[in-house]
Amino acid sequence: MPDCHSSLLKRKIIHFDMDAFYAAIEIRDNPALRGKPVVVGGSPNSRAVVCTASYEARKYGIHSAMACSKAARLCREAIFIDPHFEKYQAASSHIREIFKQYTALIEPLSLDEAFLDVTHNAARLYAVTIAKRIQKEVQNTLELTGSAGVAPNKLVAKIASDMKKPNGLTVVLPDQVTSFMQNLPLRKIHGIGPVTEKRLTALGLKVCSDVWKYSKAALSLHLGNMATWLYERSQGIDEQPVETERVRKSLGKEETFPIDLLELSSLREELAKLTHAVARHLTEADLKGKTITLKVKYDNFEHITRSQTIEHFTRDEHVILEVTTNLLSKTEAGRRRIRLLGISVSNF
Ligand SMILES: [Mg+2]
Repeated sequence: MPDCHSSLLKRKIIHFDMDAFYAAIEIRDNPALRGKPVVVGGSPNSRAVVCTASYEARKYGIHSAMACSKAARLCREAIFIDPHFEKYQAASSHIREIFKQYTALIEPLSLDEAFLDVTHNAARLYAVTIAKRIQKEVQNTLELTGSAGVAPNKLVAKIASDMKKPNGLTVVLPDQVTSFMQNLPLRKIHGIGPVTEKRLTALGLKVCSDVWKYSKAALSLHLGNMATWLYERSQGIDEQPVETERVRKSLGKEETFPIDLLELSSLREELAKLTHAVARHLTEADLKGKTITLKVKYDNFEHITRSQTIEHFTRDEHVILEVTTNLLSKTEAGRRRIRLLGISVSNF
């Protein structure tokens, strides 16, 4: 185990996240939309889902991944726009160029957010100075705003960037990590979704410091192998390095179910949801791959993977779903309970 504390003190990470990116670009390019509830996704009469909602639209409870039809019911004045990925891609590349002036250690998470490791930046600037300069430059050259979080690691930087949106900057120094995490709802930790949140709430764990009251051993009685992960995250500990795009070899998503699944129909439903998410991430990252991998974790934590390599590069949802459905039939799905499914695409 590396010494967490010493490396915590050493790294300087910026998480930069554009504000309502797709919607902001559409509004910039059509000022008549300014101040209006704008939803980028597709027609409310289609099966389209919301990619990005403007801040005005969010006031009605509209958020990304929601069905556009539902968004239309929540806000009758909402303006629906089809996504223009080429345009977002172009803006994203431009932002990437701005990042590159400060560091080569950039890990894009999607078109509109990235981690930057500026520990050893050439100009020897403070991380805060770099974050401010990036914000200013993005605003001057692209007429868009972004929010930044500056922290000793990726976990804290990502939470920080979300604190003062839009156009916000939140700095968490190494000796402020503990107080920053203390009253933070566990839901804010990347990786804790609504399902896990419910499970933790049932145990009386709502904010990070609730976790600190327990020993790792006591936690693992209730949470199994998630305990160590939660124990560290709740303290703001995260050792994951910033991974540049060159080392990105696959893109995927996995889902742990609140209850282990046996029914094939439910598993296929989950597979479809995962495929949808992966296809969208591939589009956002502008990647296509040839190898599709399915990961299955059974209820005893044993996990297996099944892969298939196809002839053409793809990010097509239907193709990926066909392959993963076929791969699922090569597992013990339907005969053994499954706690997790994962899909990834590689061989870009
Ligand atoms: Mg964003």
